[in-house]
Amino acid sequence: MLKISQELCIGCGICEDSCPFGAIEVVAGLAVAGDSCTLCGACVESCEVGAITLEIQQAKVQSDFSEWKGVWVFCEFRGGELASVSLELLGIGRRLADKRGVELSAVLLGYNVGETAQRLIGHGADNVYVCDNEVFVDFKEDVFSSVTTSLIREHKPEIVLAGATAIGRSFVPGVATDLNAGLTADCTQLEIRESDGALLQTRPAFGGNIMATIVCENSRPQMATVRPKVMKGLEFDSARKGNVIEVALKEGQKQSRIRVVESVVAEASNVNIQEADILISGGRGLESPKGFELMHQLADVMGANVSASRAVVDAGWIPYPHQVGQTGKTVAPKLYIACGISGAIQHVAGMQSAETIVAINRDKNASIFNVADYGIVGDIFEIVPKLISKIEERRKQ
Ligand SMILES: Cc1cc2nc3c(=O)[nH]c(=O)nc-3n(C[C@H](O)[C@H](O)[C@H](O)COP(=O)(O)OP(=O)(O)OC[C@H]3O[C@@H](n4cnc5c(N)ncnc54)[C@H](O)[C@@H]3O)c2cc1C
Repeated sequence: MLKISQELCIGCGICEDSCPFGAIEVVAGLAVAGDSCTLCGACVESCEVGAITLEIQQAKVQSDFSEWKGVWVFCEFRGGELASVSLELLGIGRRLADKRGVELSAVLLGYNVGETAQRLIGHGADNVYVCDNEVFVDFKEDVFSSVTTSLIREHKPEIVLAGATAIGRSFVPGVATDLNAGLTADCTQLEIRESDGALLQTRPAFGGNIMATIVCENSRPQMATVRPKVMKGLEFDSARKGNVIEVALKEGQKQSRIRVVESVVAEASNVNIQEADILISGGRGLESPKGFELMHQLADVMGANVSASRAVVDAGWIPYPHQVGQTGKTVAPKLYIACGISGAIQHVAGMQSAETIVAINRDKNASIFNVADYGIVGDIFEIVPKLISKIEERRKQ
């Protein structure tokens, strides 16, 4: 918290000039900090009369973690469907739990969940905490947050994983705050540190230019979100056995400050590039929005979906749900054809798990060729039409 002493401040304005965010100004002879203050401390250092101080609240340090045991996965269930990221998280969760020699549990909050708990057991869970209640029909952040927090407080898992989906991103940070726990968003790799069993959470940082490994050493649980399609789920095993634990809602947990007026399926959300087996992906090399007509023609003959780089999404050539990459979606199709995409690290981060990558680019030094299994150096406007007619010919044979 930033404190400005009215007794010491002389209204000199040096702090105003020093603030990189324009968050402090002198009003009626006294410095006043505004809402955009980031507590960076630049004004504290610049103040020659010592009128500004920064009080940092020390996070509570837990020292005994012996009560915290087990790996938990929050499994997302909406509109009668389990989000596929839940099964992917059970895959990595199983590996982490086995390394720690602990149980893997799933948390399932939904309405009419049917046999979903058995499905989660078949995909790796030892226990499933199920709360089947009408209150979960609509996503109400405060209800999801309160029930999850209370379950974690009661059972004390050492690790909690959730999908970096719209729902996970909305309520999981609130859970971490309530528990005074750390949370690493958008992890691409999770490992157990041999020396002390801590969770090593790796994610891209500084615009994807470095991979940072984050460890929460002073608090439990260790919480992480992972985007869909980053981890691999386990095959369903009908022979697996597990416990289904019914969870009853506590007094007041149904109450919400949120009233859902209407739920509308956005047209854009029909575009699910993450489920596609084949993606034809277009970049700035397409030169204009018209270039995407060629991408759609190729996609049509191949039974594929169309995706894109951020450059063309930013240019408004194609809507955001098509974007692949660090700030778009992570995809893992069987075949990814990159047309006129340079292969920037932030793009590659979202498509490098594709089984086969084909790149078409007129620059033989383009980085996309570093990740491609097959590369074609040439002009997309010459190569793609030829590819389309070759496929059509083959189809006729
Ligand atoms: C924090 C951050 C997050 C980001 N997130 C993402 C993200 O999620 N996804 C993403 O894609 N990007 C992301 N970016 C942007 C990324 O750095 C690149 O700017 C972007 O991916 C470039 O898009 P592009 O390859 O389509 O365009 P360019 O880099 O301009 O490449 C165009 C390519 O097309 C080739 N070309 C041109 N004409 C033709 C032709 N006629 N035939 C064949 N080839 C041709 C060129 O040789 C070139 O290689 C992010 C950047 C930052 C800083």
